Amino acid sequence: MVFDLHSHSTCSDGLLSPAQLTERAVLKGVTALALTDHDDVSGLEEAKHAADEWGLEIIPGVEISVLWQGTTLHIVGLHIDPEHQPLASGLSDIRAGREQRARKMADSLAAAGIEGSLEGARRYAQNPELVSRSHFARFLVAQGVSRDTNSVFRDYLTPGKPGFVPHQWALLTDALDWIRGSGGIAVLAHPGRYRINEAQRGQLLREFRDSGGAAVEVVTGSHAPDEYVTWARYAKEFGLLASVGSDFHGPGESYRDLGEIPALPAGCEPVWSLF
Ligand code: AMP
Ligand code: MN
Ligand code: MN
Ligand code: MN
Repeated sequence: MVFDLHSHSTCSDGLLSPAQLTERAVLKGVTALALTDHDDVSGLEEAKHAADEWGLEIIPGVEISVLWQGTTLHIVGLHIDPEHQPLASGLSDIRAGREQRARKMADSLAAAGIEGSLEGARRYAQNPELVSRSHFARFLVAQGVSRDTNSVFRDYLTPGKPGFVPHQWALLTDALDWIRGSGGIAVLAHPGRYRINEAQRGQLLREFRDSGGAAVEVVTGSHAPDEYVTWARYAKEFGLLASVGSDFHGPGESYRDLGEIPALPAGCEPVWSLF
């Protein structure tokens, strides 16, 4: 089996439709793909339908936005039941919050002299309930405000910059309850990307595990190879399983393509031992 347990479609901030993503995964040699759109599960049916024709397994997933000690975290749920009511309504609340946030971001950008960004971002968002910073970024780059995605995040869309507004995402414990309550497995996404200190890392991993989290992403498009080893060590130390995922968003938008996933470091217990 070739697992890719983290990917995005146009139902959140990916560039390919669920069916196109599925086809690409097959061409890239993936045999089990988790579609994990941000705070949304509306692409799962299309992906599943397309995958059935190709003999690819689609693992129903989601990537939930969480605020923990002032830091935004992403929790991936695998093998979730998208119809589980607490999960569905929790995600719906997060999407409603995104709408409010998008308005504030646009106001804040307008105050910095950039007009029309809400309408602009909306044009890039195929799911009207799911406007993300990625859509603002695509608009701002197209407007010539910044040269590329990296610069636009650095100069406008990160804490302290004109287009960034702090946001109250879900609570970690709620996200874990929704995932677990739906029969799913909770994975701490790209842990190396959070700006937290060593003490907070330990606290997060303990809290995550004790509240029902099962695995950490060890190999992800957001980790440099030396971080694979670091996070394999943390996983082992805290009794967590190891996951792998490209976090693919689209051709030219991601560090790794679908299925471009190095093997887990030795000694890792893979999350698919639970599948
Ligand atoms: P949001 O959930 O609306 O805050 O948007 C977060 C998304 O923005 C992430 O899932 C990434 O796809 C994208 N993103 C965040 N930081 C960067 C960055 N530095 N460069 C490119 N994309 C980024
Ligand atoms: Mn994204
Ligand atoms: Mn993420
Ligand atoms: Mn992601």
